[in-house]
Amino acid sequence: TIAVTGATGQLGRLIVEDLIAGGVAPDQVVATGRSTERLVDLAAQGVRTVAASYEDVTSLTAAFEGVDTLVLVSGSEVGQRVAQHANAIEAAKAAGVGRVVYTSAPHADTTALVLAPEHKATEELLRASGLAWTIVRNNWYTENYVQTVAQARETGVILTSTGEGRVASASRADYAAGAAAVAVGDGHEGRVYELTGDVAWTFDEFAAAVSQALGTPVVHQAVSPAEHAEVLSGAGLDAGTVGFVVALDEGIARGDLADATTDLRTLIGRPTTPIAETLRTL
Ligand code: NDP
Repeated sequence: TIAVTGATGQLGRLIVEDLIAGGVAPDQVVATGRSTERLVDLAAQGVRTVAASYEDVTSLTAAFEGVDTLVLVSGSEVGQRVAQHANAIEAAKAAGVGRVVYTSAPHADTTALVLAPEHKATEELLRASGLAWTIVRNNWYTENYVQTVAQARETGVILTSTGEGRVASASRADYAAGAAAVAVGDGHEGRVYELTGDVAWTFDEFAAAVSQALGTPVVHQAVSPAEHAEVLSGAGLDAGTVGFVVALDEGIARGDLADATTDLRTLIGRPTTPIAETLRTL
């Protein structure tokens, strides 16, 4: 039996769907999250859907009962996640789970990426847990830029402080397929995979792809971090958000997301989805 947390969210749902499409019997899949009303269609297919909160070890332990492999999709409540993931790992141990597959961040142990510390801490908890584990470190989802594309449609401009920095993004569906492959496959214990798109693109290239997808001219305007902060503040964003967005771009500029590997395409047995293709669906 394979359990997937975050199954009420976008990545987790895709993982559940991939497991079933790949031949895992629906009644051998447990889908969890808090908002289980989002799982009714999966329940109708025979998937065991269980409400469980990362804040509540008892609910997690009950959800993981009889589970061999747990796909722990990292939570979305930034700042709370180390304690939440610790609860999930504790519950996995209590329930006798055989292996935990955790969705982490690129080079979580060494990167300066602002979002990485919670992932690094979770990886350390897993390594210390005594459980078998596999870590899948996901680079950016191409879909993260849905807002950027919507804005570019209005303004014709994509403004960043990423400079010449590259992003090795893939689609959510690609990462989901990678996680599902690791969950059902053998030989992944104790392995750390850097899952990325096949191609690391610059924002100049991204703007060209957006332009193509929209059929209207779109350019990348590269500004300094200070100029970027000024523009974002001027648009009414609060200081915390401005700092976060600029720090992410600084990370990209320094190459935090630039390392394209073949781990994902090897796991899924096909090339990752080109950004142009994902952009057409946004
Ligand atoms: P979603 O926001 O769509 O899903 C987040 C999932 O986390 C939901 O199923 C939600 O379930 C669950 N969750 C959040 N808090 C709790 C909680 N306290 N207890 C139980 N479940 C919780 O995100 P995505 O599917 O798009 O991405 C999955 C994860 O990947 C994110 O949570 C984040 O860690 C990471 N991420 C990675 C990105 C990347 O580019 N690599 C970009 C964005 C996120 P519910 O609300 O039903 O409880």
